[in-house]
Amino acid sequence: MHAESLMNSSPYDLLVIGGGINGAGIARDAAGRGLSVLLAEADDLAAATSQWSTKLIHGGLRYLEYYEFRLVAESLAEREVLLANAPHLVEPLAFVLPHEPHLRPAWMIRIGLFLYDHIGRRKTLPGSFGVGLADSRWAAGLSPRFRKGFVYADARVDDARLVVVNALDAQAHGAQVRVRTRVTGARRDEGLWQVTLRSADGATTEVAARAIVNATGPWVKEVLDSLRPEQRNEGQVRHVKGSHIVVPRVHDEAHAYILQNADNRIVFVIPYQERYSLIGTTDVPVSAFDHPHIDEDEISYLLKLANAYLARPLTRSDVVWTYSGVRPLYDDGATDPSAITRDYVLKLEALPGAPGPGRAPLLSLFGGKITTYRKLAEHALAELAPFFPGMKPAWTMHAALPGGDLPGGDRNAWFAELCRRYPGLPAPLLRALAQRHGTRALRVLGDARTVADLGQDFGAQLTAHEIDYLIAEEWAVSAADVLWRRTKCGLPMSEAQQAEVADYMARRT
Ligand SMILES: Cc1cc2nc3c(=O)[nH]c(=O)nc-3n(C[C@H](O)[C@H](O)[C@H](O)COP(=O)(O)OP(=O)(O)OC[C@H]3O[C@@H](n4cnc5c(N)ncnc54)[C@H](O)[C@@H]3O)c2cc1C
Repeated sequence: MHAESLMNSSPYDLLVIGGGINGAGIARDAAGRGLSVLLAEADDLAAATSQWSTKLIHGGLRYLEYYEFRLVAESLAEREVLLANAPHLVEPLAFVLPHEPHLRPAWMIRIGLFLYDHIGRRKTLPGSFGVGLADSRWAAGLSPRFRKGFVYADARVDDARLVVVNALDAQAHGAQVRVRTRVTGARRDEGLWQVTLRSADGATTEVAARAIVNATGPWVKEVLDSLRPEQRNEGQVRHVKGSHIVVPRVHDEAHAYILQNADNRIVFVIPYQERYSLIGTTDVPVSAFDHPHIDEDEISYLLKLANAYLARPLTRSDVVWTYSGVRPLYDDGATDPSAITRDYVLKLEALPGAPGPGRAPLLSLFGGKITTYRKLAEHALAELAPFFPGMKPAWTMHAALPGGDLPGGDRNAWFAELCRRYPGLPAPLLRALAQRHGTRALRVLGDARTVADLGQDFGAQLTAHEIDYLIAEEWAVSAADVLWRRTKCGLPMSEAQQAEVADYMARRT
């Protein structure tokens, strides 16, 4: 798309600043309700917090201890919605909580799990149950000292790809999606926002919009202050870093562990990308949040906690990858970073007068989770509805996301179908494509019949054909976009393999 195409002769209804999960989700919802939408992302889609999560679509068992019943109920219900709408990217995951009586008594855990089973709409996910862990598959990889545990269900997600499919659907409903496009300034002028955008080559463009949504995650306050400098106020967002380590898989079963620590925190150990386990997270308040990195203290903390539970101790040299993200939490005044609310808050302001056209509303989002992005988008659109009298009603609850229209919602059946349609292609490649693209794998594969038809093979189930698709259809520009966000192929690849991808991208873009 060229810069000129941004020069809409008429204003956009809505400018969404920020292409993380919340911005992409709002752009999708708004476009589907008939608004003309521009989504501007300064970097790549999911370049920030939305690729650095623990990758769970979950109610958040531990939030019950902080009485976050609204958030937990909404999140629990969203699990089923996302499992139905994006079954290629979201899948059920069983969690085992090994019992540590001195940390939380069994009755307390049972009450928590009873609430977890019942306060959200649960249709397909099974209820919780207690298990004996002696000689049980539920104790795979655990120290034999654990005799008792609890099993409950949540789900996991490919977080960065969930952002991409929301942007794809926004585009399918008419939104313009601009990556590498930073909003550098905006002012209200005669009831409209006049907004300056700067693209990667430094070129600037002015666009007009009737409303703005500030969905910039950790930058929400910074952007808010820059949009209306006369009203600066303190606080509102707390930045809490969370880090993960990735190690060789600690057991062969499909379930995850939720481990309790004496500091009242919990840490997850989650099967990740077939060969690995993902362990996280930490809670470290930070003031600088542009390029978060894990500290050695955090690595030690995670290893020590995991080793208190695992049969085979992990060492520093087992850590093959790490990542850190910064939670943009709404400042509710809590002193303990783990206790700050994970719920979201929407702040709306507009020109004085009754809400309606010409009031140039600005809606800023504080906090939130990946799990709740769709509901957050509905709430955001409800806030904006008075300014757009003709806006259509909510629609995303039963709408499949791109690639998510798997026959019967069954990812294994879809994989089998791909194997039937492409008998000349290797099964691991087809499985990887089915997981990444769902039914859109057909677009990636086209009429390919053999591996040779897919062009250069970069290893880790990534081919030139798929990269071309990601560039053409999914806004991929850099090697990192492909290796770490549109796919996670970077993880098993050697540096030389990654360099080959970078070379190929440089030649193609
Ligand atoms: C360690 C960790 C673990 C987590 N685990 C989970 C989990 O398991 N499950 C869950 O549900 N949630 C989880 N979360 C929470 C979840 O990841 C976040 O709430 C969510 O990703 C925030 O998304 P966002 O779109 O608001 O922000 P972001 O993803 O940060 O997106 C904001 C975007 O705005 C862009 N931007 C900033 N300024 C500008 C500008 N001027 N112009 C244009 N673009 C701009 C940025 O480049 C960025 O891409 C976790 C968070 C962390 C940090």
